[in-house]
Amino acid sequence: MAIQNYIFGPTKKQFFKTRFKQGIALTFKDVSVKTGLSEILPSECNTTTRFSRNIKLKIPIVSAAMDTVTEHTMAILIATMGGIGVIHKNLTPKDQAREVVRTKYYLNGMIESPICVEAGSTMSKVIAMREKEGYRFHRFPVVDENKRLCGILTKDDFDFCTGQSDKVQDNMSREVIYINKEDGQEIAYKLMQDHKKKAIPVVDSDKRVIGMYLLSDLKRIRSGESSTQTLDEKGRLRVAAAIGAGKPALDRFELLADANVDCIVIDTAHGDSLAVFETIRGVREINPSIDIIAGNISEPSSAQRLINEGVDGIKVGQGPGSICTTRIIAGVGAPQVTAIYSCHVVARESNIPVCGDGGIKYSGDIVKAIAAGADTVMLGSLLAGTKEAPGEIFTSNGQMYKTYRGMGSLEAMMTNTESRNRYRQGNTPSKELIPEGVEGRVPYKGPATKKIQFYVGGLRSGMGYAGTPTIEQLKTESRFHQVTTASETEAHPSIEVTSEAPNYQK
Ligand code: 5GP
Repeated sequence: MAIQNYIFGPTKKQFFKTRFKQGIALTFKDVSVKTGLSEILPSECNTTTRFSRNIKLKIPIVSAAMDTVTEHTMAILIATMGGIGVIHKNLTPKDQAREVVRTKYYLNGMIESPICVEAGSTMSKVIAMREKEGYRFHRFPVVDENKRLCGILTKDDFDFCTGQSDKVQDNMSREVIYINKEDGQEIAYKLMQDHKKKAIPVVDSDKRVIGMYLLSDLKRIRSGESSTQTLDEKGRLRVAAAIGAGKPALDRFELLADANVDCIVIDTAHGDSLAVFETIRGVREINPSIDIIAGNISEPSSAQRLINEGVDGIKVGQGPGSICTTRIIAGVGAPQVTAIYSCHVVARESNIPVCGDGGIKYSGDIVKAIAAGADTVMLGSLLAGTKEAPGEIFTSNGQMYKTYRGMGSLEAMMTNTESRNRYRQGNTPSKELIPEGVEGRVPYKGPATKKIQFYVGGLRSGMGYAGTPTIEQLKTESRFHQVTTASETEAHPSIEVTSEAPNYQK
């Protein structure tokens, strides 16, 4: 037994217990996960996990609820790769709900309430509506004055439309094949094959359009590609959205719930507050079927209070973020690895997942966060600057950049009430705002797909080294070394790097 302890050192519990006694808290750079007997290859490791009580993910990656990180383009990409995106709340409630709808519409078993156009409308009106709403699709069921299905517009109808003032009814295809709701996906797919149709509207007994199936979606679902995607029970991509605290947050929530959001994230700088507890109760009252994640917190007693309020997940991180200044400005917050560990100890008792939010700079930090007890990690800076992140590319000295800013940066707070509310300064005049974040730029990174592949690849390597083939095992069986500044220096390359590695930058 003594020899075993000597070889393996303290368990994770003993490791943290010793440091708690001394009042020492640790973050990513302070620790390294111990390697162990590995019986499977990294590629065989299983990265499935849970974001919240009822939302399973294929990879433990969540994109941050920030206005320079997650709108529908990022949310679609992340969910397609098996993670989930949290749409930020620096948008009007209506616009935020629209971002949710766009994500849900992207890949669909049956699109519910598809956008229809009126037969008597003009093509120019339809084209303007497409542009305004940013719809990428061209298929619109057409309805008559009684709202009954009478045709369908397809890409060909747009391509061959010569006069934009023409009526929709003069351009649409009148031979529209449709089905009733009870017919379902299989019949829709067969009709598509038999009649070479790419879309089949679904109608009710009055021939009013209630849904639509698309060939591309059904093919994707049938090909099994969906096994890598985060889907709801209807085959739609899952998406989460952030709200703040208080009455306006509940009004926002109602719109998001109508948009079929899968999970709501009560996103505040201090989740252990009465306003957040009341919001949790309010959300539950409005719609008890949507999972609630609340945060941010960094202490186990805070985790316990949120769990007592009935949350389905907690988000941990007060001040570790790359754009955060909370620790400096307010002098508070626990170093992230200790914060994750201590909150997870409480959450584990109630089987509630923990999302480690902020401070992840390398894929190895994802391994450390999960080893400490996180079920998922939320990424801001690692996804900022990608093609899918909101914002324009700009150039400086020949280098391409995108803006990345804290939701509590002066710039975000000046222009958005939600940013001010996040830092409990909703009623503070602009001149008296106390920012808790900064705005800056990050190099343009190109498509996020490649980056996410590197992050998940790094995670798999870590799981392989640790000998923990599942996320649950990485979470429960890991052991840590505490590292010194010398060993942190040793960990980085010590030569002049001439060829930049795609997954490493000091
Ligand atoms: P990163 O991944 O860039 O290290 O951290 C992203 C996380 O930082 C976000 O998910 C959010 O929790 C947090 N965050 C975003 N903006 C601010 C801010 O202005 N101040 C603070 N203190 N935290 C922020």
